[in-house]
Amino acid sequence: MKLQQVSDNCFAALNEKNRVCDANSGLINRGGGVVIDTQADLAHARRMIELFGKVWPGMARRVVNTHEDGDHVWGNQLFEGAEIIAHRTVPGRMRETADPRPFEKLLDGASRLLPRLWLRARHPGVLAVARQLQRDYDFDGITLVPPTTLFEDRLVLDLDGTEVQLIHVGPCHQAGDTIVHVPREGVLFAGDVIFRECTPLGWAGTYARWLQCLDQIIWLDPQVIVPGHGPVCGIEGAMEMRAYLEHVREEASRWFARGLTSLQASKRIDLGPYGAWRNPARLYANVERAYREFRSEPGDAPWDMTATFDAIYEVAKARRCEVEF
Ligand SMILES: [Zn+2]
Repeated sequence: MKLQQVSDNCFAALNEKNRVCDANSGLINRGGGVVIDTQADLAHARRMIELFGKVWPGMARRVVNTHEDGDHVWGNQLFEGAEIIAHRTVPGRMRETADPRPFEKLLDGASRLLPRLWLRARHPGVLAVARQLQRDYDFDGITLVPPTTLFEDRLVLDLDGTEVQLIHVGPCHQAGDTIVHVPREGVLFAGDVIFRECTPLGWAGTYARWLQCLDQIIWLDPQVIVPGHGPVCGIEGAMEMRAYLEHVREEASRWFARGLTSLQASKRIDLGPYGAWRNPARLYANVERAYREFRSEPGDAPWDMTATFDAIYEVAKARRCEVEF
C-alpha cells in the first residue's frame, strides 16, 4: 500500500496489487479529516491509518463508505467515535454483502486438507479465490460497524470552508454507490464506479445507470479521480470505464442473440484493448449482468458466488490467462 497526495488537502492510500479486495482509501485532510473507505481487513485498515498518520493531526472525525462491500467497510471498527456516513441502503445491504463470517469460513476451509480436496474437485474457482485471499487477508476479528449518518440523494459537508459533496449514483456497481467530490481541489473519490487498469465487477445495478453515472463524473470534470481499485487517474479513467462497459454490453448482445450462454460468450468475446487490464476473466460477471438485463431480470437479483467464481476460473483457463480474481 502506498500514500499519494493528489491535491493540497486530498490523499489516497492505494493497494497496488489491484485484485479483488485490494481497494483504495481516501483522505480529505480538512475539518477534522474525512476518510473514504476503510479497507478489507484490520491489518490493511491499520496500514492505511499509519500512512494517513504521516499527514493528519489525528484520527479522522468522519468516515464515508462509498458502498456496502466488505473491502470498503471492514476497517470501520478502528474509527471509534467517528461519524460514519453512507447512503441509506448501506446498513441493510452490508448485512448481506459484507458479513465477514462466510469469508472467514471459506479461508478456513481452504487451509484444511479435506475441504480443500473437495473444493479442488468440485469448485476450483472458489478454491482459487480463497487461496488468493489467504495470501494477503485475514477476516478474523472483524465486527461489522454500520454507518451512523445516512443520506438519500446528496449530502454536503463543510470542512472549514472546503465543500465536499456526497452524491448517490447507485445502483451501478452496488446499491449504495456514492461519489465524493471536492470541487475546490478538483478531486473526486469514485468508489467502485471506477476500476482502473483492472476489469470492473458489478453486483447490484444496471448498465444504463452505470453509464449515466460515468457521464456525470465526466461532466463534473475533476482534475484527479481516485478510483475504488487501481491507480489514480484523470477524466480518462471515467471515459475508459464507459467504453469498456459499452463494448462488453454490445459484444454480449451479439452472442446472446446467437443463443450462447454467458459463460460461452465470455470465452469468445474479443476484449480489444481491455485484454491488457488485470483480471480479464472477471469479464464473465459483466457478461452475465448484461444477459440478466437482456432477460429483463431485476438489477438486484442475487448472485450465486460459488458459480460466479467457478465461471471466472473457467473463463481464465479457456482464455489462457492467469487465474486471478
Ligand atoms: Zn471494491
